[in-house]
Amino acid sequence: MDELRYQVDLLSAMNQRLTNDEKMYRLICDTSSNAFLYVDFVEDRVRTLANWDFFFPNVEINDRNDLTKLYSQVEEKYTLPLRELIFLEKTEMNTSSGIIKLKDGKTWVECETAILYDLTGNATDKVIRFKDISKFKNQNEELTYMAYYDMLTGLYNRNYFVRLLADFVRKAGDENEIVSVMFVDIDDFRKINDGFGLIVGDEIVQQFGQFLSGFKSENVLVSHFNADIYCIAIYKPSGSRSVEHIYKVIHQRVREPFRLSTGQELLISVSVGVAEYPEAAKTTLELINCAEIVMFKAKGNGKDAIKYFDAPILNEFLQNVNIETKLKGAVFEQNFTMNFQPQYYVKDKKLRGVEALIRWRDNDGMMISPAVFIPIAEKNGTIVPIGTWVIEESIRTFVDWKRQFDCHVILSLNISAIQYMREDFIDSILSVIKKYDVDPTELELEITESVLIENFKDVMEKLHILRDYGIRISLDDFGTGYSSLSYLKGLPIDTLKIDKSFIDTIVNDENTRVITESIIYMVKKLGFETIAEGVESKEQFEYLKEIGCDCIQGYLLGKPMPGEEIKQLLLDQI
Ligand code: C2E
Ligand code: CA
Ligand code: CA
Repeated sequence: MDELRYQVDLLSAMNQRLTNDEKMYRLICDTSSNAFLYVDFVEDRVRTLANWDFFFPNVEINDRNDLTKLYSQVEEKYTLPLRELIFLEKTEMNTSSGIIKLKDGKTWVECETAILYDLTGNATDKVIRFKDISKFKNQNEELTYMAYYDMLTGLYNRNYFVRLLADFVRKAGDENEIVSVMFVDIDDFRKINDGFGLIVGDEIVQQFGQFLSGFKSENVLVSHFNADIYCIAIYKPSGSRSVEHIYKVIHQRVREPFRLSTGQELLISVSVGVAEYPEAAKTTLELINCAEIVMFKAKGNGKDAIKYFDAPILNEFLQNVNIETKLKGAVFEQNFTMNFQPQYYVKDKKLRGVEALIRWRDNDGMMISPAVFIPIAEKNGTIVPIGTWVIEESIRTFVDWKRQFDCHVILSLNISAIQYMREDFIDSILSVIKKYDVDPTELELEITESVLIENFKDVMEKLHILRDYGIRISLDDFGTGYSSLSYLKGLPIDTLKIDKSFIDTIVNDENTRVITESIIYMVKKLGFETIAEGVESKEQFEYLKEIGCDCIQGYLLGKPMPGEEIKQLLLDQI
């Protein structure tokens, strides 16, 4: 009996305390100048408290649907952040905050949230406190806006996007969901800026940003990182929120020109890299990095495309970073050597010349193929000193042979587009020619079609000047890329090298035979010499001889070899 009495007393005391507490909290609430919104996730209820009427006089909120009335009081660009503040169930610290501006144009409100969780970690309640900070805020309006948004496009800026993406990632971790990140980059944006000016560039960035903002929703974040780079994050992608769908809409949009305020119309294309949580990466920044790496891959594969993350792309990237680091530390004399591959006339199998090919052994003794490191050197600019070294080292060796054997052969040098683009390119070649007193008619520079595509007018001028000095020009890798026979006519070249990919299938593939035959027929008519590259078998040789190819280069007759071994070949010629 006593026991029961004790329980009743205890309960009544607790009850008393509860009402006292409630009174106290109510008093605090009522006298506070703040307004509160209370969200009950369990019951799916929303309630307002305290000074609500002061902030939102005509906005009565009784359930979730009424919130649209609240959003309608807020300036448009703040509605999405406000919605996120109200409904996001997981944040880093169980609290979050943001600043919104009301439609009256002068009231700034700071929103601070606190979330309660049950024992299993599910959000049960959330309180959002609205505090009027207009006095302080109007002075700092620009500054705060800039902290969250990008001024040019009105999209989230990079920092804020990263914060929101972190929330997506955390939520996806809890809910076993996917987050897709699309890294979107306008192709050849530099050309737009250079060709049309920065103002046009900005307008394109703005218009394209505005278009992308159409994808924004509770589960889709759209941001502008900088210049021509945008990033989109999608929580739980599917249907109209899938990467495929969004890309399709983007792709369709850029098929139409952008109309600028000047009345000009401009077409753009974009490259997109996609990485997904958790497959590609587990953290926010890694996820963005992966999407960026993949975007570069899409660019490398001819732009105007979408590419999805996979492990080989990442490995290749990591390998390239490694090579780039090694390349920067490489010491020319110690790590690089030149090899020379012989080229022969078909008619009498006499030595026509040699192609200089660089070899790189890194400090660990590993051979790294030029097919791998030259493109990296071109990107980071180290191709310039490497190219200079190649020219000097090859010509030095060549002159040494000539001194020993009175031979007339040609030295072919591979020259990268970056080298041609340099203003001092011709002078640097001429100075080496002078230094070693080499006959310019025995020098041949190999160019690829990409060199011409990049900077046609400038390169053409340079080629004409080089040829005026007697230097030969050869078009390398013909048949890969943009090749068209008709444009060959106007080119200042002496030699055309038919790419190995043709030679590989020449014996068995009827189509390749027809194409190769017509190339050789046309090219001979234009007066150019032809060299077939990568000839490995007798059958290929015989066939090329039959269709009138002038020269052969390939493993069948000789692999690339050190200069010392070339001496033996020269000796055999005498
Ligand atoms: P490339 O100019 O097309 O050079 C021909 C490549 O084909 C060389 O590869 C050569 O070893 C290989 N090759 C020749 N005959 C055969 C054959 O019968 N079978 C096979 N499987 N391969 C054959 P390498 O030396 O690995 O060079 C690769 C590329 O790297 C070159 O392609 C060239 O674009 C670039 N490169 C090499 N050295 C230099 C250089 O000094 N400067 C620049 N800018 N690029 C260079
Ligand atoms: Ca070559
Ligand atoms: Ca080639």
